[in-house]
Amino acid sequence: MSTKTPISIEFFPPQTSEGADKLRSTRAKLAELKPEFFSVTFGAGGSTQARTFETVFEIRREGHEAAPHLSCIGSTRDQIRAILQRYKDEGIRRIVALRGDLPSGVGDPGELRYANELVAFIRAETGSHFHIEVAAYPEYHPQARSPRDDLLAFKRKVDAGADSAITQYFYNLDAYLHFRDECTALGIGVPIVPGIMPIVSFSKLARFSDACGAEIPRWMRRKFESFGDDSDSIKAFGLDVVSDLCEKLIAAGAPGLHFYSMNQAGPTMALCARLGLTN
Ligand code: FAD
Repeated sequence: MSTKTPISIEFFPPQTSEGADKLRSTRAKLAELKPEFFSVTFGAGGSTQARTFETVFEIRREGHEAAPHLSCIGSTRDQIRAILQRYKDEGIRRIVALRGDLPSGVGDPGELRYANELVAFIRAETGSHFHIEVAAYPEYHPQARSPRDDLLAFKRKVDAGADSAITQYFYNLDAYLHFRDECTALGIGVPIVPGIMPIVSFSKLARFSDACGAEIPRWMRRKFESFGDDSDSIKAFGLDVVSDLCEKLIAAGAPGLHFYSMNQAGPTMALCARLGLTN
C-alpha cells in the first residue's frame, strides 16, 4: 500500500476557551501525521464566524496550512469580499467554498444562492490567489432535484473555477466510484478527495447521517445496534470498517483522504496508524 496518500484534517471552531485548549493539543498530535492542511468549518448566518477566524489564524501562526471554509448563504457580496481580503492579508491560500445551510428562522438567503456563484465571485475578486475546494456528494445532496441535477451543479462549481473537491462522508465505496466515473464522463477532471468520518459513537453518527443524507448501510447499522452500549465494540468495529473503506479507496486511486476529526485526535490517529499513513 502507498504511504504517500496525502491527508487533510477538518475541525470545527471550539465554543469555549477549554475547547480551544483541547483543540490545541488535538492539533499538536494530529500535526504528527503531516497533513497537507487543517480546515476549519464556518457557520452560515454568523453565529460561529469569529471563532472560525480565530482558529484559522492560530493554525496559521503555528506554521500549518489553514483552509477556512466559507459559506455564502445569508451573506452579501460586501461581507464576503471583506472576509476574502482578511484571509489574503493573513496569507491564507486555500478556501473551502460552500453554499452552507441557513440556521432555522433565518429567512434571507443573501446575494449568492449557490456555491458555484461563490466560486465565481472568489475568482472574480481574487484571481488565482486561492486554491478553491468545493463539496461533492457521492450519495447526492439531500436537496438535489435529481442525481443528474446534482452532478451538473457540481460541474458548475468546477467550471466556475474550483481546483478540487472534498466529498461528504460515505460508507458505500461504490457510491464514490460511480460518482467519480460520472464526473469523468462529464469531463470533470479535478481531484475528488473522499471525506472520511471515523466512527466512535453510533447513535450520534446515525442522527448526523440522517440530517446530511449520508447512508449507513443496513449491515453496518444492524451490527452497530447489536453492540448496544458496548462502546469498545462499537469503536473496534468502526475502526475495522472505516480503515477497510480507506484501504479500498487508496487502492482505487483516491487522490487523498480528508478526515472529519470532530476535534478529536484519537480516531483519526488510529485510522492512519492502520493505514500506514503515520509518517
Ligand atoms: P451547492 O453546491 O450550492 O448545492 C446545494 C444544493 O443546491 C444541491 O442540492 C444542488 O444540487 C442544488 N443546486 C445547486 N445549484 C443549483 C441551481 N442553480 N438551482 C437549483 N438547485 C441547485 N456547511 C456549513 O455551513 N459550514 C461548513 O463549514 C461546511 N463544510 C462542509 C465541508 C464539506 C467537505 C461538505 C461536503 C459539506 C460542508 N458543509 C458545511 C455542508 C454544506 O454547506 C451543505 O451540504 C449545503 O447544504 C450545501 O452546500 P454546497 O456548497 O454543497 O451547495
